[in-house]
Amino acid sequence: MTERKIALITGGSRGIGFACAKELAQNGCDIIINDICDEATAKPALDEIRALGVDAWFYQFDVSNDAQVHEAVDKMIADHGKIDILLNNAGITKDGLFLRMDAEQWERVIKINLGSAYYVTHAVIKYMMKARQGSIINMSSIVGVHGNAGQANYSASKAGLIGLTKTLAKEFGSRNIRVNAVCPGFIQTAMTANLGNIEEYAAAIPMKRFGTPEDIAKVVKFLALDTDYVTGQAIEVAGGLML
Ligand code: NAP
Repeated sequence: MTERKIALITGGSRGIGFACAKELAQNGCDIIINDICDEATAKPALDEIRALGVDAWFYQFDVSNDAQVHEAVDKMIADHGKIDILLNNAGITKDGLFLRMDAEQWERVIKINLGSAYYVTHAVIKYMMKARQGSIINMSSIVGVHGNAGQANYSASKAGLIGLTKTLAKEFGSRNIRVNAVCPGFIQTAMTANLGNIEEYAAAIPMKRFGTPEDIAKVVKFLALDTDYVTGQAIEVAGGLML
């Protein structure tokens, strides 16, 4: 078994997840990337991580499919022996005003953004318990704390992640497993590419700019590697937005 820590990052082939994968790799972690895309699509991301001098592996599965998640996590443990860090990052938006939001739109976002954290954490945590250590980080959002018109499904899923984070921190602290959430503001990725006038949004942010995926990755690295005593926290990384 590798001496290096192993980090599993869901939705890790691009955007914030990929930046977190690179940051953890730069700090000596082997990386397991999950995504719903095929391995050929994820290959450039894997190559970039391997070029940093660590191992990187890819597991394709849908984080909202409980059976696929459990099968993949059991295989990861059989292949690599352990998972030290879990970043529940995969997420989607299906925005719309509440009155026009149909049940499919609601359920899909809740299942991918919140259900996935239950499925993946449930599959991984039993191995962390045996190892008597682990760090779990859930990618929430400032809208999970403050709400946002047009995002009832997304905001509810991200608020749910914060409740899950705090509860698991209480349940698993005695097992030396820490659970935290990161709440990004506007971050430049594919998810925010269609927002329209970025300057207008940026003007409302005290730091006067959108965040980068690397801004989020630095906080994830702190929670994963630099602290042994921070747990149950939901840390806003939003350039002061919502202050
Ligand atoms: P992104 O660029 O769209 O990346 C999301 C990743 O998740 C993609 O690789 C996507 O795969 C993957 N994914 C989606 N559904 C999946 C599924 N069912 N199973 C496995 N993987 C799946 O988004 P991002 O901006 O990096 O966002 C990452 C996380 O940060 C999300 O949870 C998001 O809600 C959160 N966040 C983002 C912002 C922001 O401003 N960008 C702000 C707050 C919170 P495909 O590309 O193949 O679909």
